[in-house]
Amino acid sequence: MENRISGHTRLYCLIGSPVGHSGSPAMYNYSFERTGVDAAYLAFEIPLEQVEEGVAALKTLHVGGFNVTMPDKTAVAGIVDELSPAARLIGACNTVTVSEDGKLTGHNTDGIGFVQNLHENGVEVKGQKLVVLGAGGAATAICVQAALDGAAEIAIFNRRDEFYANGERTVEKLAQAVPGCKATITPLEDADALADAVRGCNILVNATKVGMKPLDDQTLVPASLLRSDLVVADTVYNPRETRMIQQAEAAGCKAAVGGIGMLLWQGVAAFKLFTGKDMPAQEVLEKFFS
Ligand code: NAD
Repeated sequence: MENRISGHTRLYCLIGSPVGHSGSPAMYNYSFERTGVDAAYLAFEIPLEQVEEGVAALKTLHVGGFNVTMPDKTAVAGIVDELSPAARLIGACNTVTVSEDGKLTGHNTDGIGFVQNLHENGVEVKGQKLVVLGAGGAATAICVQAALDGAAEIAIFNRRDEFYANGERTVEKLAQAVPGCKATITPLEDADALADAVRGCNILVNATKVGMKPLDDQTLVPASLLRSDLVVADTVYNPRETRMIQQAEAAGCKAAVGGIGMLLWQGVAAFKLFTGKDMPAQEVLEKFFS
């Protein structure tokens, strides 16, 4: 480190709260070194009420760019100078690039990471019918990116909680911005509608907290609905193999794609935005994600 950091080294960072557990500093610092980029990456604890002053400070320090995690993603989208089309539709950003003249552009690479993870597993979203369980941050990013990338239909299912209205807004936004993709939302409690939608879709996505500890013994779709021509994808990566992914494997589904790849590929996309270079994805996967 003492040989690498000089007076010219550019700072990149993560902001959010909490950030202490984040794997991002290790992943980015390793990738900067491997790709010969003169930069260093730190994590800063910035609670929601300090977002404006935190971002202003990063601007003053001429950081090269920064990532944003919960709970700051929506607030940052509201204060940057420009948003990518996906970040504008999602209403949240996880990556901000800074131009030489200090202009901040917000991006959202969560959906990009999800779609890329499917691609790496031999699955394309173009022309496909998706069922997306969930209407929170991850689900919204996935729905928007899948629609922008040419998905034919997206059926969102969410329980009638505080996220349901968010799902309704996503459906409205997609109808306006991506009319070629038919988006709907239905209460998760409607088991018959869910079963019909799963039978009629090509890709089933879990973007809820179900499957993640302490809900790791639960799934939202009966195993009897999983079949050999269905792709099953989870956003949950803790545990690496959720119960839904295990059931998809047992049912012989066409692909059973866990959430860790989404985490990797959203980072790869952000690294490209920051540096114009390719993160050594395979090495990073083996070193930090296995
Ligand atoms: P969020 O808080 O924004 O949304 C939570 C969602 O889970 C909502 O749709 C809510 O209705 C649903 N939910 C919660 N408990 C439920 C239950 N008991 N039954 C049914 N639905 C329930 O969270 P988020 O940021 O969108 O995260 C959702 C999941 O996606 C989490 O498991 C998270 O780990 C995962 N995630 C993964 C990545 C990745 O890179 N792989 C990135 C972001 C989020």
